[in-house]
Amino acid sequence: MADSTPVRVRFAPSPTGKLHVGGARTAIYNWAFARANHGTFILRIDDTDPTRSTEENTQVILRAMRWLGLDWDEGPGVGGDYGPYKQTDRMQLYRDAAQRLWDEGKAYPCFCTPEKLAADKKAAEERHDPFQGYQRTCRNIPPEEAKARIAAGEPYTLRIKVPLDRGDVIVHDAVHGDVTFNAKELDDFIIFRSDGTPTYNFATVVDDAMMGITHVIRGDDHLSNTPRQVMVYEALGAPVPTFAHISMILGPDGKKLSKRHGATSVEEYRDAGYLSDAFVNYLALLGWSLDGETTIVPRDVLAREFSLDHVSKNPSTFDPKKLDAINQAYLMAMDDRTFSTQVLIPQLVSAGLETDGALAHDDAWYDLLSSILKPRTTVAPDVIGKARFLYEGDSVTFDEKSVKKNLEREGAHDALVAAREALAAIPADSWKAATIDAALEPLPEKVGSNKRKFYGSVRVAECGNQVSPPLGESLELLGRDCVLARLDRALPMAN
Ligand code: GLU
Repeated sequence: MADSTPVRVRFAPSPTGKLHVGGARTAIYNWAFARANHGTFILRIDDTDPTRSTEENTQVILRAMRWLGLDWDEGPGVGGDYGPYKQTDRMQLYRDAAQRLWDEGKAYPCFCTPEKLAADKKAAEERHDPFQGYQRTCRNIPPEEAKARIAAGEPYTLRIKVPLDRGDVIVHDAVHGDVTFNAKELDDFIIFRSDGTPTYNFATVVDDAMMGITHVIRGDDHLSNTPRQVMVYEALGAPVPTFAHISMILGPDGKKLSKRHGATSVEEYRDAGYLSDAFVNYLALLGWSLDGETTIVPRDVLAREFSLDHVSKNPSTFDPKKLDAINQAYLMAMDDRTFSTQVLIPQLVSAGLETDGALAHDDAWYDLLSSILKPRTTVAPDVIGKARFLYEGDSVTFDEKSVKKNLEREGAHDALVAAREALAAIPADSWKAATIDAALEPLPEKVGSNKRKFYGSVRVAECGNQVSPPLGESLELLGRDCVLARLDRALPMAN
């Protein structure tokens, strides 16, 4: 393929289920490859398996693609010059292509029954025939005879006629290098079934050829289909695209990633609160790397720098901890305002702590809260549990264990009395984390307590448990009145 040919790539999911992690990575690579080469990214729905494809799954996949931010240049909802972009809408094109091959003597009808095929296969096995495929029984039926049998209503499939002298097929794969498939593995395979539907190997190639696809980037579970697909390109007289088969994604136990390992669909990760940017970044690194070490590769860098020669042919392992770390890094990189509007407030609203359109506080309040929650957030919903104590008015929910350890201890009462006195002395207009921290600072020594114990008591009185965010900011956010009220409420519980 000449380098000057504009790049056209496609992602062609079958809507037989949700978009999974592996499919999403394939989509990302195609998208990034198109963007990096100023090419065209096409989304095509491969729904030729009518028993397993559903419109609902198609919609789920489109939603997932949108959430991932993988905008397609041609495809459903966008259109394009090479449509339709759904295989069930392209049936006539497959019939026409098959008819042309038939007319040109490159395909032929086969009348073998399943029983006959099974018997032939068994016989080939028994005589250890190096050629185990279809025995070409119907390859030389005279056209007139074939026509008569079809007219008489005999069921038939359509097979491609692989030239007998074709020899080995060498697939030049951008990831795996040259992969040779022995000619003996190539038989005259079926391109149209007896029920009039095209097979995957045929429909895909008709589409890829008609859509001018220059690079086929897909999972390496399709590598074994590739020699057959090459036969179809050759029969159609179409240029063979560059193939790039990307390796499998494994679970931590070294087995192919599956439900057993936990969440596998894109939607599950969206719903768990991962950021689209972080998720795309993480998936991109499963088999590709920028320079072998950089782990934060923002979308625009990916779209500029992605190249197939940095794709590994070794399987990669899905590591949820690394995904978490990348998500955290993206959260940390947000400024407080962005974190407030994109992470914190939507979560508070969805938890029912805030009402959309009628927020309880001003921007500065959320931004201060964001500044203390950001370093403590792995995924967005983490903020709910950590912010809940701010939404309980004067009566915070106490964690029993924390109360036992921090309030029902010798000296806790003295600590709270001292804290109340110092905090009540701060004027309302100076109610800031720094002032609060400064007021509390000398108190442990004053009441003869160690710091950890002192702050533990105040923290539990105010926040209900001992694992809340930094105290000064927490108290600033609670507000002076609420802080004093909570102390009053906790005092009788303290020893
Ligand atoms: N519909 C096929 C799949 O989902 C696409 C394979 C291909 O990219 O050729 O596996």
